[in-house]
Amino acid sequence: MKFIPAGERIGEQHQVRTVGLAASPDLPDGEYTFVDCYCTDPECDCRRVIILVLHNGKHVSTINYGWESSAFYKKWYGGKTVSSIIEEMKGSSIDIASPNRVKGPAMLAFFNRLLTDDYVNVLKKHYMKFKRAIKNDPPPYDD
Ligand SMILES: [Zn+2]
Repeated sequence: MKFIPAGERIGEQHQVRTVGLAASPDLPDGEYTFVDCYCTDPECDCRRVIILVLHNGKHVSTINYGWESSAFYKKWYGGKTVSSIIEEMKGSSIDIASPNRVKGPAMLAFFNRLLTDDYVNVLKKHYMKFKRAIKNDPPPYDD
């Protein structure tokens, strides 16, 4: 499964989120940008986002977020799934491939604070637009 930034497919309809942070005990001051990426398989309805977190333009962390319930991911994944995988797909977690240039738990807590209903709705909307764009014009690669 390959994930690419939404902006590469939905262009101007897409806005990344940027938040300034100062005087945090655990994270460096500066500007944090959250780049939402979605999976490019037109047949896949995984309803997840991978977020690249940039600190002053540098990739410092990668976060996984799934907005559906455990029941949804269980069904989507099929019968014989380990529950730890399901728990990882649901909610937010630091991605296994994160560069971890900032403290993971602090980054996750920061992200969770930003995760309002409005932001979740933006992510869902981006996902839908992105999937529509991918269906209309599937990527040439397949992995
Ligand atoms: Zn997918």
